[in-house]
Amino acid sequence: MSTPKHSSTEGSGSDEEPHSPSTAAAARSLLSRGRGNSRQSTKGSKRTRAGRDNKQTSREARQSKRPYCTIACIRGMVNRDPLDKECPNWKLHGGQRHPMEPQEFTHQLHRQLARDRGLGFEQLHVCGRTGYLVKATLLSHGYTVIIKATTVQKQHRLQAEANNYHHLRSLQGHQIPVCLGVFQPRVTYWYHGELMAQMMILSWSGTRLQRVINYENSSFFEEERKKALAMLRSHGVVHSDSEWRNILWDDPSGRLVVIDLEDVKWLKRPRALEPTSGNTRRVHRAGAGKSRQGLLSSSTAVCT
Ligand SMILES: [Zn+2]
Repeated sequence: MSTPKHSSTEGSGSDEEPHSPSTAAAARSLLSRGRGNSRQSTKGSKRTRAGRDNKQTSREARQSKRPYCTIACIRGMVNRDPLDKECPNWKLHGGQRHPMEPQEFTHQLHRQLARDRGLGFEQLHVCGRTGYLVKATLLSHGYTVIIKATTVQKQHRLQAEANNYHHLRSLQGHQIPVCLGVFQPRVTYWYHGELMAQMMILSWSGTRLQRVINYENSSFFEEERKKALAMLRSHGVVHSDSEWRNILWDDPSGRLVVIDLEDVKWLKRPRALEPTSGNTRRVHRAGAGKSRQGLLSSSTAVCT
């Protein structure tokens, strides 16, 4: 299988905008750059600034400026753990415990997108083999995560990845990112001229290791990669492309996180997905041309 230049998606996003606490400064400058990109369409609007200033300012104020939640924070939402006080957004999440479960989170984020595609969503201009990355903040609660979106043509790949996340749920938040859910946007959402048909919500999970590894630390990371891949194997999967670009370094937890799971090979075929406790619904394959009416409530699925 050929490997395109940007095969990793979650990782690439991390490179573009590494919002881990330890890389916050770099992130800020990258974020500014990113915003510059995202505002290109409004270039030349200086002369009209006065008229739109207030609106623009308020929109930007509500853009996805928050740092990413920690992987422990998002894992905690799945497990209904107390909030992770290391998460830079925890005070916005409310109370001492997560106020919602993954399905509700997915539902609310989808609803926010349907209301306004710009508020709380920022395209990272990172396109991988399967997905297009968006930074997303649930504005009501400050949760900030990655969305991996894709076209109808590649929807099956994203769904395969979501299924793999589901089967590997015990590793989520440890060796692999946390996958909170999948939905088919009920609004037209364009990304680099492509219409997005499906979106998967993931925890931000670190900086791509390519950016971290060097001569002095490489043996440490080699060992850690072996351990992470061994853990995956012990759960029945072999990653088809375990190059460094598909591995992140999560500084807060001090561990490697393996990403881009759409092509993992199962040593033993996993059992087919079944609805569990009425809260896991498979996303039915639906073309972009199909009616989007009512999809908000019917198309969400959790992968935990
Ligand atoms: Zn958080």
